[in-house]
Amino acid sequence: MINILFAAKPASWADYKTPLRRALDDTGLAYTLSPETSDPASIDYIIYAPNGPVTDLAPFIRAKAVLGLWAGVERITDNKTLKIPLTRMVDHGLTEGMVEWVTGHTLRHHLGMDRHILGQDGEWRKYVPPLARDRSVAVLGLGELGGACAQALAALNFNVLGWSRRKKSIKGVTCYHGNEGLAQTISQAEILILLLPLTSETENLLNEHRLAQMPKGAFIINPGRGPLIDDDALLKALDTGHISHATLDVFRIEPLPKTHAYWTHPSVTVTPHIASETRPDSSARVIAENIRRGEAGEPLQHVVDRNAGY
Ligand code: NAP
Repeated sequence: MINILFAAKPASWADYKTPLRRALDDTGLAYTLSPETSDPASIDYIIYAPNGPVTDLAPFIRAKAVLGLWAGVERITDNKTLKIPLTRMVDHGLTEGMVEWVTGHTLRHHLGMDRHILGQDGEWRKYVPPLARDRSVAVLGLGELGGACAQALAALNFNVLGWSRRKKSIKGVTCYHGNEGLAQTISQAEILILLLPLTSETENLLNEHRLAQMPKGAFIINPGRGPLIDDDALLKALDTGHISHATLDVFRIEPLPKTHAYWTHPSVTVTPHIASETRPDSSARVIAENIRRGEAGEPLQHVVDRNAGY
C-alpha cells in the first residue's frame, strides 16, 4: 500500500480528488490518498503546491518524491528540508491554456484592437495593421510553454524569435541563446513575451538597460513571473512611451496590491494570474504516471534541476 498526501490548497481538494482517484485507479496500484495525515512518516508521495499546508518536508522520512502541481517551482527549490526528487507540472491542459492566452493577447496588440474596442467615438479612423509576417514577436524562454507559444505564433505567420539558456532549434523560430543572444532577441522584439522561470539568473532580467534595447513602441506580455521585470524601470518606459503597453499576468506581490501603479496606468493591462491554470483531469494523469514510474523503479518525468532552479 502506498500512501499519498494531497498537500495543495485545501479548497482545491474538491476539484482534484475524483480525477486523482480515477488516474491512480488506472495504474492498478494499491494506495491511500488524503488531504491530511497525522503521520508524515507514513507518506510515500507528496502532491504539492506552494500555497498548500506543507512547508517543512523533514518529517516525511519515507517519501520518495514531491510531485508539484505548478509549472513554476521558485517557491520550493530553495527549501532546505527538500532532500528528495521534485517534479513540476508539465501538462497539455496547462500548455494549451497558455498558448491561447498568449496568442490572444499578442493578436490584440498586433491588430491594435484597443483602438476600436475602447475608441468608438463616431470618428471613422482607418488603421490597417501590418500582416503578422511583418511583425517580429520574441519569446524569452523556449521550454514547455514558451516553445509551444512560439510555434503557435509562427503558425500564424509572425516572424518569431526565441531565447533560451541552451542552444535550441524549433521549426519556424529564429532561436538565440545565452547572454550574447539576449540583446539580439530583444532588440528586434516588437512584441515581447516572457515565459522564463524565476531564478537568480532571470530576476530583474528586463531592467532599464534591456528595456532601452527594445524597439520604440514595443509591447510586453508577461505570463512568466513578476520579478522577471524591474517594475520601476517598466513604469518609466511606459511613461515615456518607449514601451506602448504591458499586459501583465504575474506580479512580485499577488494579489497585486490595490494601490499599485499598474492598476491605474493607462498603458497596463492587469490579469490576475490566470494565463494558464493546472487542469485537474489532465494533471492528475501526470501525477499518477509519475507515481507509477516511481513504484516501477523507472525515472520520474519533469524532474526539477535544483541547481539551475527550474
Ligand atoms: P520550462 O519548460 O522549464 O522552460 C523554461 C525555459 O526558460 C527554457 O527554455 C529555459 O532554457 C529558459 N531559461 C531558464 N533560465 C534561463 C536563463 N537564465 N537564460 C535563458 N533562458 C533560460 O518552463 P515552462 O513550463 O515553459 O514554464 C515557464 C514559466 O511559466 C514557469 O516557470 C512559470 O513561472 C510560468 N507559468 C505561468 C503561468 C501563469 O498562469 N501565469 C502558468 C504556468 C507557468 P533551456 O531550454 O535552455 O533550459
